[in-house]
Amino acid sequence: MKISFWAYPLQLQHTFTVATCSRSTTPDVLVTLEHEGIIGYGEASMPPYLGESIESVMSFLSKVDLSLFSDPFLLDDILGYVDGIAPGNCAAKAAVDIALHDWIGKALNQPLYRIWGHNPDLTPCTTYTIGIDKPEVVKQKTLEVEGRFKRLKVKVGVPGDHQLIESIRSVSSLPLTVDANQGWTDREKALDEIFWLKEMGVIMVEQPLPKSRLDDLAWLTARSPLPVFADESLQRLADIPRLSGCFHGINIKLMKCTGLREAQKMITVAKSLGMQIMLGCMTETSCAVSAAAQLSPLADFADLDGNLLISNDPYEGMKVIDGKITLNDRAGIGIVKIN
Ligand code: MG
Repeated sequence: MKISFWAYPLQLQHTFTVATCSRSTTPDVLVTLEHEGIIGYGEASMPPYLGESIESVMSFLSKVDLSLFSDPFLLDDILGYVDGIAPGNCAAKAAVDIALHDWIGKALNQPLYRIWGHNPDLTPCTTYTIGIDKPEVVKQKTLEVEGRFKRLKVKVGVPGDHQLIESIRSVSSLPLTVDANQGWTDREKALDEIFWLKEMGVIMVEQPLPKSRLDDLAWLTARSPLPVFADESLQRLADIPRLSGCFHGINIKLMKCTGLREAQKMITVAKSLGMQIMLGCMTETSCAVSAAAQLSPLADFADLDGNLLISNDPYEGMKVIDGKITLNDRAGIGIVKIN
């Protein structure tokens, strides 16, 4: 098995502004895994706040020696070895995981969702994020995407969020999800906000309070009229049990959890604890988004719009049709190279 990797900075269609910074590119590394004439594709996307970089991913991947293994189907052995090379490096590990899964699907000539037994008709609608902007711009953007998406996502917990939601509501009645990104600090005020948001047609709330305040999050979740989901509060499988009772659901992202293998386990564990599932992403190409989409028949919510935000996607894969994640019949993660 031979692994190759190269830096591929993603060009964002629009400058991305959050409370802390503004950027027009996302660091990204593309990976291929070649064995017996079959090529599997993988990807690591590194939004700066997660602590990985092109340099750290290239350094990690250069330590991965897949010549130690002769059978790509031995996922436990191979991914256990990769995870043990160094702590952290979750996006780099996800790149190997995705490439390996893509290879296996291609070797079996079946899409992963079929190999796993998931019904492609059960994929959820993805949300599409409307950024904070002037009311006129927000209305315009909302009208532009109204026909293409069935659910919109909005960042809250920042100045201007009420005006943003009211602007959207003045032109659209689509259900909204909100992500506070830990932006609320007072649990009573957060609860008031959630009641207001419900009146405004919001259907779920992501990460309302700072990630470590689990007692306050449990208090809020017990009283919230909307489902409350963890994002920043969790990274990997081992984080889930302590979140039981603190959230109604978890947002799983391949770049945070080391890939599809662990994401599958997270879904099983979370469901066993009565928690709902959301699948999220970073700004990433159709490679990682299409990989995550293979699991989407198991998800209650999906936020898989990362590939739609970039202008240099080298692949074509999962499509959003009428707002719904639509899986194709291609083998593996279901992508082809187009650039
Ligand atoms: Mg989030």
